[in-house]
Amino acid sequence: MTMIQRFSTLRFRFALWTATFLITALIGFGVFVYVIMSSELARSVDDALQLSAAQAIAATVEDGYLSVSDGLPELSTVPSLQDKGLTIRVLNADGVTLGALGAYRDLPVTISNPSEGGEGNVSFITLMDTDDAEPVRFYTAPILSDNRLLGYVQVGQSLDLMNDTLERLLTALLISIPLLVGLASVGSYVLVTRTLTPIDSITHTAERISAQDLHERLNFPNTHDEVGRLAATFDTMLDRLERSFLRERQFTADASHELRTPLTAMQTIIAVTRERRRTPEAYEQVLDDFNSETKRLRQMVEDLLQLARGDQGADIAPKLMNLTLLLRDVADVFAPLLESKQLRLELDVPDNLLIIGDSDNLVRLFINLLDNAVKFTDEGEIGIRACAAVRSVSIAISDTGVGIAEGDLAQIFDRFYRIDSSRSTSGNGLGLSIAKSIVIAHHGQIEVSSCRGHGSVFTIILPMG
Ligand code: ADP
Repeated sequence: MTMIQRFSTLRFRFALWTATFLITALIGFGVFVYVIMSSELARSVDDALQLSAAQAIAATVEDGYLSVSDGLPELSTVPSLQDKGLTIRVLNADGVTLGALGAYRDLPVTISNPSEGGEGNVSFITLMDTDDAEPVRFYTAPILSDNRLLGYVQVGQSLDLMNDTLERLLTALLISIPLLVGLASVGSYVLVTRTLTPIDSITHTAERISAQDLHERLNFPNTHDEVGRLAATFDTMLDRLERSFLRERQFTADASHELRTPLTAMQTIIAVTRERRRTPEAYEQVLDDFNSETKRLRQMVEDLLQLARGDQGADIAPKLMNLTLLLRDVADVFAPLLESKQLRLELDVPDNLLIIGDSDNLVRLFINLLDNAVKFTDEGEIGIRACAAVRSVSIAISDTGVGIAEGDLAQIFDRFYRIDSSRSTSGNGLGLSIAKSIVIAHHGQIEVSSCRGHGSVFTIILPMG
C-alpha cells in the first residue's frame, strides 16, 4: 500500500475526522472555560475589594468625621482585612494620605477628580508593583457622611494568586487537549480497523473469486451488526451465483449433448448413403430422414431460445385476455389427435375467465401439457378443467395415462429430464421446463400429482391480474 493509498483508507480518514472534530470542540471548550474562569476570578477579587472597602469605611468614620490616627489602629478592629493580605489606605478629601496598612501601601494610586467627590467617584485600577513585578488591583471609594466627602479609602490586593490559578488552568488545558485528541484518534483508528477487518476480507475474497472458483466463502461469524449482515449477504449471494453458474454449465453441457445427437444421426446418414450409389427412392428416403432430424433440431433450438428468453423475463407481454376462449381453442386443436387415439375430452371451463397474461405463451404452456397428456395416455380421457378462486384461476390438465413414479416427480420440470429416454415417445425433455418458466413469468405456480398406471394431473394457478 502506498502512502497515498494508506492516507485515503477509511480508517485513516475516520481518525482524521475524529481528531479534527475533537480539536475544534476541545479548543472551543478550553477557550470558553478559560474566559469564564478569568472573568469570574476577576469579579470575585473586585467583590472582595468592595466588601473590604465598605468594612474599612465603617471603621474609619465616627460621628460624621474621619477618625484616623497614625498607623490606622482603628482598622485593627477589622483584623480580617489584613489577614487577607489586603492593603488599605485612607486619604482625606484632598487626596492626602492619612494612614496606610499592608504590603502595597506605598504604591501611588491617583484619585480621579478628588474635588468632585460624590457617590459615582469609585474606580478600579490594576497597577504593577515594581518591586516584585506583581499586578495589584486597587479599589478607590469615597468616604461620605451626609453627602459630605470626608475622604477616600483605597483597598488593594495582589492578583498573583488569581494569575497563578489561571496559569495552572491554561497548562492543564494545553496538556489535556492534545492528549485527549491523540488518544481519541488512535482509539478511533483501532476501532475502525477492527470494524473494517471483515470488509477487508470481503475484498480479498472477491479478488480471489473467479467464475471457475465460486466456492470461496467468507464464513464470517454472524455478529448481527451491519458488517456481519454484509458478510452473510455476500456469502448467500455467492451461493446463488454458484448455483446458477452450475445450472448454466449443466444446461450448456446438456444442450450440446442433445444437439449433438441429431447432428450425429445426420452425419451417419450421409456417410452410409455415400458408401455406394442409391436409387432415387433411397435418396428420397434419406431426404425424409434428414427432414425429420432437422425438424427435431429446429424444435430444440426454438425451445432453447424460448427458455433463454423466459429466463430473462423478456418474452412476456401481459394484457387482459379471456382464458376460457384460449382453453377452448387449444382443446379444438387437440380434438383430431384425441379422436385418432380414441381418447375422450373432458372440457369443464366456466365462461369468461379473465386474466392478465400473455396469450402466445399461455397457448404454448397448455399445448406442452396436453401434448404430454396425449403422448403418455393410451386409453381413457384427457381433462381440461378450470375454476376461479379468490383473485386467481386454477387450471387442471389431467390424463388417465401411464402416470409418473413418485421419485421422478421432483425432476420432471428440470431441463432435458426425461423419465425414460428410451421410451418411443418423441420429445427433448424441455417441454415442462418451458411450461414452468411461463408459469413463473406469470407469477403463478405449477404442481403435479400422479399415480403410476392411473394418470397424472398438472395444476396451474395463475393470478387474475
Ligand atoms: P418431453 O419432451 O420428453 O415430453 P417434458 O419436459 O415435457 O419432456 O416432460 C419430461 C418428462 O416427464 C417426460 O419425458 C415424461 O417422462 C414425463 N411426463 C410429462 N408429462 C407426463 C404425463 N402427462 N404423463 C406421464 N409422464 C409425463
